[in-house]
Amino acid sequence: KNFDDAGLHPVMLQNIRLCHYLVPTPIQAYGIPAVLTGHDLIAIAQTGSGKTAAFLIPVLSQLMGKAKKLAAPRPNLVNGYNPETDAVRAEPLVLIVAPTRELATQIFDEARRLCYRSMLRPCVVYGGGPVREQHQELMKGCDILIGTPGRLLDFMSKGHILSLQRVRFTIIDEADELLQDDWQEDFNRLMSGGDINEDADHRYLMFSATFNKQCRELARKFLADDHVRVR
Ligand code: AMP
Repeated sequence: KNFDDAGLHPVMLQNIRLCHYLVPTPIQAYGIPAVLTGHDLIAIAQTGSGKTAAFLIPVLSQLMGKAKKLAAPRPNLVNGYNPETDAVRAEPLVLIVAPTRELATQIFDEARRLCYRSMLRPCVVYGGGPVREQHQELMKGCDILIGTPGRLLDFMSKGHILSLQRVRFTIIDEADELLQDDWQEDFNRLMSGGDINEDADHRYLMFSATFNKQCRELARKFLADDHVRVR
């Protein structure tokens, strides 16, 4: 089994080759076809299983086919300010929520490699990082947004810098961690804040090292009934 016969976009196949991924890991072999056929996904996966590529490859590949129509404009910024519009805001197509700065940064690095030579632009925001620089990156055009819950909420509340109305894929990474005390409040506020678009074709992908009661409740709340489960 390899990546070539999975029905992926040619640009994605090229980027997979540039990453030197030759054979899909098990979670990729089961997860990629499920997402490509429009299913929600829940995967019980540890770090090191190739879980990041398991969600990035099928999601980005699908968007690459429509990127000309969908991708955010790339404004020419003047001193970090977009002179063409006053109400500038980021409207990503993909939202990836992760508990920590380290994980968010790792996902961003992999997203950058897998978005190479596509019109899709990833951005990352996390607590403890420079708000001004993250804001400027968002204003340059953001199609794929990776972030920690608290900072995502900050950007949504502050001057409407960020809107989730165009999001088509929400990916919850390390869900069991996000449901722990440290993040739970922000995470729940983010997911139930009313800003997430509630279209029926909004897909949810959920990854977790363990699958406890809270994770099951989260899955029941957001995932479609015909979701695919991989472990
Ligand atoms: P993750 O589980 O997402 O943290 O990925 C662990 C590591 O495996 C990362 O460094 C990836 O770049 C790498 N990786 C992901 N998929 C593959 C693959 N199919 N073949 C080889 N390496 C991979």
